[in-house]
Amino acid sequence: MLKEIVVLSGKGGTGKTSITASLATAFRDRVVLVDADVDAPNMLILLDPEAKEKRAFTGGKKAFVDREICDKCGVCTKYCRFSAIDDGEVDFIRCEGCGVCAFVCPKSAIEMREVRSGEIGWAETRWGPFVFARLDPGEGNSGKLVTEERNLARDLAKRYGKDLILVDGPPGMGCPVIASLTGVDLAIAVVEPTLSALHDLQRVYSQASHFGVKVALILNKIGLSDEVSSSIRFFANGHDIPILAEVPYDEAVPKAMIEGISFLEHGGEAANSLRASLKSIEKMI
Ligand code: SF4
Ligand code: SF4
Repeated sequence: MLKEIVVLSGKGGTGKTSITASLATAFRDRVVLVDADVDAPNMLILLDPEAKEKRAFTGGKKAFVDREICDKCGVCTKYCRFSAIDDGEVDFIRCEGCGVCAFVCPKSAIEMREVRSGEIGWAETRWGPFVFARLDPGEGNSGKLVTEERNLARDLAKRYGKDLILVDGPPGMGCPVIASLTGVDLAIAVVEPTLSALHDLQRVYSQASHFGVKVALILNKIGLSDEVSSSIRFFANGHDIPILAEVPYDEAVPKAMIEGISFLEHGGEAANSLRASLKSIEKMI
């Protein structure tokens, strides 16, 4: 049966992507990997894959005015809440695609058309099929794009007989995180021993619990602060969050990223500690 894991961190810089890449290495025969950070896809840079398929993502609509019909009556300008249309001219950056102008235009001069907001595709990599996407600058709809990525990953899993989807989750706590979290079997929170990361863990836990998703924890870069590590363990124990691994700070991790490999492929202390957690991860899904 197809299982889905999302790796989250609340914010960037915790080592989430390097851990996801290492998990993809460990599960390479069964995994479809997804980079759900559609604003800044790091995994794409790491893998530099050649796309097998790539297409435009049309995330929403914008208003288009037929100048032949428009008599510049100004009704659309009056009703647009986003100040996106004036004198029959649409500012596409401001236009939210709500369609009000098309509804109120007495001349039926406005048509709502699908527009490109980014791209989505997939590639074959040494870690298996890899789904990537990128939102065009200034575009919204990141949640919808993440949902499309997960749908594509499910198609690929079926096509290539894979039984695990591994999502490198987006940073932050907004729509794309919700889109990457809903309906997954396990959320793995990657946390480094800093106070802001502890706060992020609390938010990830509360959001995942809200959607009925199990949460487990990988405590990354231990050794940076024993005191905060203890607070994180205390929080995890108090909320029944299993700690899958305590990965030590290891110079091999950034070295591996620079070489374009996962730290599990590189080897070292961090790799050993993550390897020891793989059985527990399998048991949780
Ligand atoms: S409401 Fe229609 S006709 Fe009037 S200015 Fe807007 S587009 Fe032109
Ligand atoms: S679609 Fe909505 S946001 Fe865009 S111009 Fe029309 S009224 Fe304004």
